[in-house]
Amino acid sequence: MRGSKTLSSVEKLLFLLMLRRSRGAIKGIVQGVGFRPFVYQLARRFNLNGYVSNTPSGVILEVEGQDTQIEQFRKALLSSPPPLAHIASAQWTELPPLKERGFVIRKSQMGEERSALISPDVCICKDCLRELFDPADRRYRYPFINCTNCGPRYTIIQDIPYDRATTTMKAFQMCDICRSEYEDPSNRRFHAQPNACWQCGPLVALHDAEGNKIHSSDPILKAISLLEQGKILAIKGLGGFHLAVDAANHKAVVRLRRRKHREEKALAIMVKDLETARALAHISPHEAELLSSIQRPIVLLRKKRFHGLSPQVAPRNKYFGIMLPYTPLHYLLMEGKYRALVMTSGNMTEEPINIDNDAAFHNLRGIADFFLVHNRDIYLRSDDSVLRVIGGTPRHIRRSRGYVPVPIFVPESISPLVPTLAVGAELKNTVCLTKENRAFLSQHIGDMENLETYNFFKLTIRHLQKILEIDPEVIAHDMHPDYLSTRFAVQHSTLPTIAVQHHHAHIVSCMADNGITEPVLGMAMDGTGLGDDGKIWGCEILLSDLISYRRVAHLEYIPQPGGDMAAKQPWRMALIYLYKAFGQDLFDLPIPFISRIDPQQSPIIIKMAQKGMNSPLTSSCGRLFDAVSSLLGLRDKIAYEGQAAIELEMSQTGEDKIAYPVSFRKENGLRIMETSPIIRGIVHDIMAGKSRGTISRRFHNTLIELLAEVALDIKDETGIITVVMSGGSFQNATLLVGLTQALEHRGFRVYSHTLVPTNDGGISLGQATYASLKAASNQGAFE
Ligand SMILES: [Zn+2]
Ligand SMILES: [Zn+2]
Repeated sequence: MRGSKTLSSVEKLLFLLMLRRSRGAIKGIVQGVGFRPFVYQLARRFNLNGYVSNTPSGVILEVEGQDTQIEQFRKALLSSPPPLAHIASAQWTELPPLKERGFVIRKSQMGEERSALISPDVCICKDCLRELFDPADRRYRYPFINCTNCGPRYTIIQDIPYDRATTTMKAFQMCDICRSEYEDPSNRRFHAQPNACWQCGPLVALHDAEGNKIHSSDPILKAISLLEQGKILAIKGLGGFHLAVDAANHKAVVRLRRRKHREEKALAIMVKDLETARALAHISPHEAELLSSIQRPIVLLRKKRFHGLSPQVAPRNKYFGIMLPYTPLHYLLMEGKYRALVMTSGNMTEEPINIDNDAAFHNLRGIADFFLVHNRDIYLRSDDSVLRVIGGTPRHIRRSRGYVPVPIFVPESISPLVPTLAVGAELKNTVCLTKENRAFLSQHIGDMENLETYNFFKLTIRHLQKILEIDPEVIAHDMHPDYLSTRFAVQHSTLPTIAVQHHHAHIVSCMADNGITEPVLGMAMDGTGLGDDGKIWGCEILLSDLISYRRVAHLEYIPQPGGDMAAKQPWRMALIYLYKAFGQDLFDLPIPFISRIDPQQSPIIIKMAQKGMNSPLTSSCGRLFDAVSSLLGLRDKIAYEGQAAIELEMSQTGEDKIAYPVSFRKENGLRIMETSPIIRGIVHDIMAGKSRGTISRRFHNTLIELLAEVALDIKDETGIITVVMSGGSFQNATLLVGLTQALEHRGFRVYSHTLVPTNDGGISLGQATYASLKAASNQGAFE
């Protein structure tokens, strides 16, 4: 209304005619993220009157003013929301102007904020970082500095509504200065629930290996000097403890590996900044963006040749898992004289990450030389997320801190979903809860093979149900009766349960990830999953919709001698594949594999397989990778799941386009993809002295060619041109990129995962979507 005094009466009339009042209903993550102060400041910038307020489903606002100003306001609102906000939808309606003066943040009524979406934990913002290193600031070097735009959320929330009293910050009473920031709508710390300072907030402390507190005027500086000396420190972070050690100190890294009983798997590292990361690894613009994003995940980056770190950080791996600091404490710690710190989960291998100080003193005893702890409790553990950029797109390997609990929104046509709990798979477990048009995937829970992980699984389910206010009407689980998650679903619940076939769950997960509802040709490729014929599936093409499937192709069955033992000892699969291709003549093949294997044990393994003794039949893609890896002398036994396949992918060299012969036969509408021509081709190349890198490359080419040709045959029969790819094997970049191209050349539209992992960490999304639709409807197209 500025300048209205100078308007003529005609102009005044025109002005009144141009006056508009608009109501916006904003949904998404818009509470507890500084959204109302943001709207308030925006409204003032554009001279608009009205109000903003929280509602059960998000934020409602009304703005009144000139037409052009309202348009600009709306544009700015959508294009530059606060860093933690995620606008899922904005609906606008026109109202008659009220000729109101001023703009206010209206208090929300009791209980209103309950179904608000909770923000994930994100990294420290630029403003807080500047204050952290500003000697004049009252929070100079305060390791828990945060504001509305940054800091802990999901890991400290015990209940809803999101308020200080329902977080682990309730133990700390804000000092007067902090409180005045907290109550001032124009302050960056308005309603920042974890707001704290040196005077009133949490503090860090250093403890020795026995858990005794060491008195120190600056525990962080002391910790830095211990790290510089090669000590192993357990450091309490945002979602749990890390074990930290100087990554360039070879002896220290080896000691950490030995103490942690982690022999082979790569250790994640943290570096000070992007520049340091560039000295260690090759980084594309996409990767740089991901590395610096507010989620601050671990990003897999191709090592440089002369990186200067211990070779034991990531042995036999072309990649480093690198992350940048994400808490103020990390920024302070990274001031030490080390290029990189190993920052691996603070647990014994296979157990969940520790979050509690006393538990850490106990569980990490004998691993850590010192403990750097603090007194802000972590309520819910959350591991670091792991991503890799493939084909220019970030792909989740582990979706956890920074991403959870942002939901996956499902298409309008299939919502509202019946409230469902899906309990996931056995390995890389996550759970999923659905509500209206949203599917909430939990953080990474882990491999369900010990009591600690099982307890964490149960806590996560209880907690998510509470904070998301979801009362499931149905529980979805894997078809495998022996998975701990299946037993939980079947035994511990009075709700109806729905079993979902493992690979169909993968396909539905990828459909939900991409918002696809029409029938697809689903390619599910992984290590293992129980099929509906009782055999172990793992290289499957399923004609699928969201609630049904028909299996139309799979890799030829082969015995897996010793069951799970064969997955741990790839040489067993190599032996059986050779036997299938060459019979007893295999023992006369002039290849190094034959001289490596045990002449006594090998015939017994073959006999076991022939007689079907503890030798389930499998069509697993993972086991084929294992076999080839062993044949090439890469890996006869593995130290962690997927190792043989990962090393086979890494071993490729050259740009060879040659593929081994591909063939498939049809049996009752099923296409059986044959493996012996591939194995014979590989053996031929080994005998011809071709390099391991070339053979690995050709094997990848062959698999791509085979799958693409089979898909083409199915397309000719069904007319379906949409392909959806899912399963752990698609973590293999060559397979993912190569198969996508091969299928696109053959006229397919191809979809893969971007929001959730392609491995079993994404399967609960598929289970939940399937079961909630199945509970509501009757039949799918492929039943
Ligand atoms: Zn901040
Ligand atoms: Zn304070």
